[in-house]
Amino acid sequence: MDGVEAILGRKNASGTPDSARIAKLRGRLERALREAVDVEVELSRADGTIKGVPHYSLVEARAHELGQQLSCKVQEQQMRELNASHAPTAECPGCGTRCVLRLRVRKTKSVDGETELQELMGDCSRCRRSFFPDARDTGL
Ligand SMILES: [Zn+2]
Repeated sequence: MDGVEAILGRKNASGTPDSARIAKLRGRLERALREAVDVEVELSRADGTIKGVPHYSLVEARAHELGQQLSCKVQEQQMRELNASHAPTAECPGCGTRCVLRLRVRKTKSVDGETELQELMGDCSRCRRSFFPDARDTGL
């Protein structure tokens, strides 16, 4: 998906969300989740985590772990698309000089586990300092 499209969202001429597109995406997500479930169940039996008649807490723990993995992947993708939609430059908050932004990856702990999030940083040669661009300075 195009990052700008993802951030701005596609709306029809009346400015409302495109319900046909949303329904199509929900169907796609449902199919992808069913596929993930099939793979997870098969994997849990192949690696021996689930065998015989396990205690239900084992089934629940394994399912919860998959949910956490999905959450971390969604967070990482959201940040990638947000950064892809950002202007390549931003004003230094100290002096107002427009600076080229660079991507850096930072490991962070979310409620669902460790994620590698991309973030944009500017390096102002005039102030000799780095900064995070203002979220309102998207250049869009
Ligand atoms: Zn500066």
